[in-house]
Order: sequence, then C-alpha cells, then structure tokens
Amino acid sequence: MTDSALAPLAPDAPWVVLKFGGTSVATAGRWRTIQQLASRRRAEGHRVLVVVSALSGVTDALKGLCACAEAERGAAVAQIVDRHRELVAQMQLDAVEGVERWLASLQALVRDAAPDRLAWQAAVQAHGELLSSSLGAAFMSANGLPTGWLDARDALRARELPFLNERARMLSAQVLAEPDPVLSARLAGAGEVFITQGFIARNADGDTVLLGRGGSDTSAAYMGALLRAARVEIWTDVAGMFTADPRQVPGARLLQRLDYDEAQEIASTGAKVLHPRCLSPCRRARVPLWIKDTQHPGLDGTVIGPQPAESAPSIKAISSRRGITLVSMETSGMWQQVGFLADVFELFKRHGLSVDLIGSAETNVTVSLDPAENLLDSDVVARLAADLAKVCRVKVIAPCAAVTLVGRGMRSMLHRLSGVLAEFGRERVHLISQSSNNLNLTFVVDEGMLDGVLPRLHELLVRAGALRTDDTSLFGPSWQELYGKGEAHVRTPWWHAERARLLRLAGVPPSPHGRGVGGEGTGEPAGLVGSEPSPALRAPSPRGRGEAVFTPRYVYHLPTIRARARALRAMRSVDRVYYAVKANAHPAILQALVQEGLGLECVSPGELDAASAAGTAETPLLFTPNFAPRADYAGALQRGMTLTLDALHPLLHWPDLLHGREVMLRVDLGRGLGHHDKVRTGGVTSKFGLPLDQFAAFLELAREHDVRVVGLHAHLGSGILDASHWPLVCGQLASLADRIGSVRCLNLGGGLGVPSHPGEAELDIAAVDAALAEVRQTCPQYALWLEPGRWLVADAGVLLARVTQTKRKGAIDYLGCDAGMHALIRPALYDAWHEIVNLSRLDARADTLYQVVGPICESGDVLGSDRHLPRSAEGDVLLIAQAGAYGESMASHYNLRPLAETAVIE
Ligand code: ADP
Ligand code: ASP
Ligand code: MG
Repeated sequence: MTDSALAPLAPDAPWVVLKFGGTSVATAGRWRTIQQLASRRRAEGHRVLVVVSALSGVTDALKGLCACAEAERGAAVAQIVDRHRELVAQMQLDAVEGVERWLASLQALVRDAAPDRLAWQAAVQAHGELLSSSLGAAFMSANGLPTGWLDARDALRARELPFLNERARMLSAQVLAEPDPVLSARLAGAGEVFITQGFIARNADGDTVLLGRGGSDTSAAYMGALLRAARVEIWTDVAGMFTADPRQVPGARLLQRLDYDEAQEIASTGAKVLHPRCLSPCRRARVPLWIKDTQHPGLDGTVIGPQPAESAPSIKAISSRRGITLVSMETSGMWQQVGFLADVFELFKRHGLSVDLIGSAETNVTVSLDPAENLLDSDVVARLAADLAKVCRVKVIAPCAAVTLVGRGMRSMLHRLSGVLAEFGRERVHLISQSSNNLNLTFVVDEGMLDGVLPRLHELLVRAGALRTDDTSLFGPSWQELYGKGEAHVRTPWWHAERARLLRLAGVPPSPHGRGVGGEGTGEPAGLVGSEPSPALRAPSPRGRGEAVFTPRYVYHLPTIRARARALRAMRSVDRVYYAVKANAHPAILQALVQEGLGLECVSPGELDAASAAGTAETPLLFTPNFAPRADYAGALQRGMTLTLDALHPLLHWPDLLHGREVMLRVDLGRGLGHHDKVRTGGVTSKFGLPLDQFAAFLELAREHDVRVVGLHAHLGSGILDASHWPLVCGQLASLADRIGSVRCLNLGGGLGVPSHPGEAELDIAAVDAALAEVRQTCPQYALWLEPGRWLVADAGVLLARVTQTKRKGAIDYLGCDAGMHALIRPALYDAWHEIVNLSRLDARADTLYQVVGPICESGDVLGSDRHLPRSAEGDVLLIAQAGAYGESMASHYNLRPLAETAVIE
C-alpha cells in the first residue's frame, strides 16, 4: 500500500502510537509486518507514531560494553556494528545514512570511554534504539510509506525528582507527560507517519537518560499522552497479557480486557509484558492500551482501559518476581517508641531505596525491596544495613521471590484460596501482604521455591473457581490453545449435538418448524416424550397431581461412558479396571461397563445387589466397605466376594469370620489428595485406610488367624489431574507388598480427575500408562488394578431443570430452578463447580450474572454462583453439566421432594 493511494488525513486526525519490542524489530520480515500495520492504521484515518526498542539482545550487549574491560570494547562494538549492517543488507537497503551516523557516534563514545560516568553509560545504551529507529525509518520510507524520524529526547523531558539517587536519575528516569498540542501540531505539519525511540529521554542538563529496562512501553505511553492518542498499541511476542507468564504456565489464559488498575498491578508484580510505569500516563490521559502479537496480528489481544462494568470477582493473574531482598528490623517495644518508623524509613530514603511490601509486628518491621524499582547494586543494601544497625537489629534475607495474586475485590475471594494457602503452607513464607487497594495478595518466599510452582498454583486457582475462567468475555483462550502444537483440544460435550432431544426430555414440545427449541419462555411442560426413538429411553412417569413431570431429570449418554471405559481398558500397564459403583449405580450404566469388560467395586450390600444384577458370572466384584457392620462382611463372604479390610478391628473382633480367607488390605499412605477437603481420603484426618504404624500388627494378626493378604490397596482422594500420582502410589504399595510375600495385586485406587473449569487440562491417560509401565518394570510380579468412578461417568451425565422463578435482591439476580441440592448436592457439599447453561437460549448472549438456586429450604441450596447466562425466564430449561457422577447416587428426598427422573441415551 503506498501513501499516494490514500485519502488525505483530516486536520484533526487522531494519533495512534504503535510500540514494537526487541523481537518485533529484529528481522526484515518483522519490519514488513510493522510497515503493514502502520499503513493500515494510516489507512484507517490515523496519524501514526511508531516507537521501537533496540533489536533484541542489543541493549544487553551495550550494557555489557559499558562494563567490559577496555581491551574487549573494540570487539564488542564490532559485533553490534555487524548486527545492524547485516539487517540493512537483509532489508535490501543501501547503506543507511542514519544508521551509519549512530554507529559512528557509538564508536566515538567508546573511543572516549568514561565508564564511571552514568551519563556516558546512558548515552551508549541509547544507541540501540537510535539505531533501530533509523533502520525502520529507512526501511518503511524505501517501501512506500514515507516515515519521519523523531528524536524522542526532543519530546520526553526527565522530571527532576528530589529523592532519586543518581543512578535512578540517569538509568531509570521518569517523565511528566502532559498533552502537548505544540508537538502534535509540529509533527502533523511535517508528515503522517513517524518513528521514534523507546527507552530514552533527556534531562535538564541536556544529557541522555534511560527509562529503565523494558522502558520502551513507557516511552510509547508517554507519547500517547503527549499526543492525546486514540490508543497506544504494544506489539510484542505474545497475544496480550495472560493470567500468568505463558512461558512458564502454558495453560495461562488470555485476559481480553483489563482496567488500568489491574493491569498496573499485574505489571508491577512481575508480568514483564508491560513496563509497570506505562500504565499511569495512559490512565491519566484516558488513553486505552492494547497489547497485540506482532507475528499473529489477527489475534484479539488485551484491551486495557477504564474500569468496565463489574463482573463476578475473580483473580485475574498470578505473577512472580525474583531477586527480592527482605530487610527485617527488630527492636523491642517498637510501637511505644515514637518516630521509630520515621527514623528507619528516613534511612531507606537516604539510600534512594523505595520500599515495596511492609509487614509489621510488635517488635519487628520487615520490608521488601524490589529490584525493578530499585537499582540495587551490590553495596547499597550493605550500606543501608550498616546504617540501620545503629537503630535496630537488622537481618537481610535474600534472594527471595514474591508470588502475587491479582484481582479486584481480593478479600471477597479469600475463601477460595485454601488450596493456594496449603501450597504455601508447605514452604517457609517470610511475608504475606494484602494490598490496601484490595487488588493483590503477595507471598514472599525463598527464591528456590518458585521453580515449577506457578503452573500448580494457577491450576489450583482455576479449580477453586477463584480464577473465574468460565467468564469467556474476560478470559480468552489459553496460550497452549493459541500457540501449542495442537495438544490442547477444545472439548465439545456430547450434549451440544443432543440439544433438541434434551429439550424434549425436559418437556419442551418440538416446534412446528422442527427446531424444537425456543428462545422465548417455553411455558409448561406438555406431553410425554412418547415419540422418542431410542428404545433405551425411559419415559417420564407422572407424579403428584396427575401432571407429567419431566424435570429435574438426569440424562446419561452411554457412548461417552463406553468410550471412557475403552480408554482405560486400552492401558497396557493396567490389568484390571473396576468401576466404583457408588459414582452412579444406574442399571444401564452398570450393564454398559460390564459389557466393556470392567469389574464392579461396591461398598454396601445394596451396591453388591445392583452389581450382581448387572454383571455376569464372570464379572469381577470387589467389596471395599468402610466402618461397615459385621453382617455386611459376612454377607459378602457368603457370596464369595473379594473383600478389602482397612482396619485391625475385623481381625481383632471377628477372626472366626475371616479365618482361612484371602483379603485385600487398604492402607493409608499418610497423605490425601483431591479437589476438596471432603474428597481427600488419606492422612490421619480421614477415616479410611490402615495407618502404616499398624501395618506390622495387621500382618501379625493375619498370620495368627490364617488370613492371607493377597492384595494391597490405596486411594488418596478424588479429582487428581497429575499423571505422576498413580505411579507414585504403585511404587509405595509395591515396597509394602514386598514385605508381605503373599500379595498378587496392587489396587491403585481411582481419583482420576475430570477437569470441570474451562481451561483445565485433561488428565493425560497415556502419560499415566507410560509412567505406570515404567514403575511396573521394577515390580512385574504384581498385577495392577484401577478403580475409578467419576472419570468414567461424570461427563456422560447432565441434569436438566426448569426455571421456576426469578428474583432480584439488591445487586443479586437469583435464578431458581426445580433441581436443588436434593437432586445434586455436590455444589453444596464440595463447592463443586458444574457448568450451567440455559438450553432454551444456548445461542443468546450470556449477559446476566446469576446465582442459580434450587427449591430447597436451605441457604446452601446454590447450584452455581455468579454464572453468566442469558436473561432467563420461567420455564426455560437449564442444563447442569458433568452430573453423571455422584449426582443421582447422592440425591435425597429432602424436603420430601421426589427423586429426579432419569433417561438414558444409547
Ligand atoms: P518486548 O520485547 O516486546 O517488550 P517483553 O519480553 O518485554 O517483550 O515482554 C513479553 C514477554 O513477557 C512474553 O514473552 C512473556 O514471556 C512475558 N510475560 C511475563 N508475564 C506475562 C503475562 N502475565 N502475560 C503475558 N506475557 C508475560
Ligand atoms: N531496549 C530496552 C531494554 O532492553 C528497552 C525495551 O526493550 O523496552 O530494556
Ligand atoms: Mg518489554
């Protein structure tokens, strides 16, 4: 696109500032993209100012040049010269006058080196941006987009801040950027598209100063404010700000919109994608800030602007900073001592150090120093400590790391953070700080703890519903989905394709036009689903006052269950899979799983009856009760079941019952796992399993009564998504089994997690299989069993409900439906998160935030809090997803409401 083809700009055409980071300007190809983007903005009617960083690595090279020995300087400069000349050649330009001029000026500076002078260091380092901007101006002008070159130092004047030390003044300067109509008019008179440098400004003495590492974002923001730009676009190597650094947390989600405060908090707590100082100039001038990916300009990116309409409180990001120094100051009776804090903070001020976090106790104040805000040279902390030692006892703790959760309304989310707190509880936490603006919660720990912890914490936040990834207007795709090599697939649940059938099952009459669905309130249920083609479908039964009742209704999709069963049967390392019947004992489900070759694991005589009815003579059955009465054990033994014991009691008190029998033994490996306290089944606080300190006693009793232990079993909890868990359990059980001698099989339990929150990664069954196969090589004598429940059936079931009433109380919209905690107790019992959709309005915009509640007389009768749904009306059909496990099987008659109906789809 050439300039001459464009309509002239209006005299008041708005500015757009485009900033490109180091990797975005490093190749000729990237410059072609920059040119296209600048041309597009011009074509859209904007004046354009491009702000660039130095080519990637060049600022580091220049910094190295400032620090290196005199003898090495020549070679260091030569490398920088070559790098730029190579790019000129790649761009197919002849020698570029501007580039040559800055290369010559760099060589002259190095000839007259004054490495001790900060002004010299700043002048040298400024050359990265002076060079890249000159290159860019030449490239774009030569390729049809006349581009003027602007010296940023003529526009950005450093502020004289009295408390800044010399280093900060020269290398991390700040600029007051007020709208400057004169500059804007001068540029408008001289052209349409300009390029300038990030990172540099000029002080009152006329010296070049730097804005701190990564400061080009801030240059762009200053320029945006000076020119009152329509927006500042930060073009970089990721598609925006993510919920965590995507290089460390591939499951991090794109944040599609943020307000200035949240973006500020995320940037200043460690997200390098934005320089922390770039938010405030934009906020002050009300200039929106976009973050976009230079290599994938089509991706949406992040839009930062004034606070949007409030949505459900959510953690927005988790970020981390390394290199934190903690200074702990101890004195007795600190609070009684008037002016103690003033005295110590005066010392920080004197050393030019800005304090970040503060924790205080009766006799101690601990503060943190952030390297991003303080140019912490090696001596400054020592000098500070020496001065502080005159007024208190000082301890410097370093290196530390700060891990920060960011989100508006942090205090209202504390109850969702128990998993995160438990994770930190395992480590030594030096300081916890909750910001007074209620936007962040920070944990300061030893730096070593940071390794690998962020993905885990991110996952915990998603699973606890603290990072509300269900809000798709805010949380975009994950980094993995955007950039991964296809490993992250989007799960489309089966019920999308079965919508019409499900609506009929909920009593919505098919529409005369064959659509079968209504966007409008669909009125009363009418008629039976007699026309349903599937013979497996059970017709709803009339209840109550002669009126057909359709909802609440569980609907199960057998193809999903069969597929899950086959996936487990395909595991090479597992010899036998038992289905934990308690998850869902629906006869059709039991039959399907038996047909797929699974055994059935039961915990009560009732379950044994159901299993026997569904199974064949060959179906392996397992009886693993807990604190059950003696009669249960006696009955099971009579039926020839394999029995699992998990206490000394049966051997101590019912030896006659067990004499001469073979049993399995369930042990407690001392720890529990899972998505909620109430589903963790290990450790002293859980009632399951034989503690290991009674293991020897158990074996002794068994020998005494001629009871053979032929299998060992452990089950630590439910909802485990970490593939390394089962191999770990296998190794532990194998070493216990070696001590017994008679063991033939190891039952590794279940607990296979089912992701429920959007963005959670699936459990990688192939990885579990591979890791188990590896462990197995060390104990080939034992057969391996698994006994999952939820993993097989959760996704296969949905609960259909009809909207009963709506109510607004204060700022809260309640959406009532006929399925309450009597039908599905998991949300009330486990804080479980189930996706809820309005099936009658599946395609309508989800613009209302609802508390979805049931008809039970309990305040805890809440199926989902803060759910984004279309505005809904009485009679609409709600679908509550992933209800196949522990839904119907835990349902009750509470409030004397009838049990939910069921239907099965073959
Ligand atoms: P540029 O050179 O374009 O200024 P930076 O390297 O300074 O780019 O910033 C982009 C990098 O910031 C990304 O590649 C990413 O690794 C890192 N980053 C850290 N935290 C985040 C986050 N929360 N969201 C996005 N990127 C992040
Ligand atoms: N070139 C400078 C740096 O590497 C500024 C920037 O890239 O934003 O820190
Ligand atoms: Mg940067």
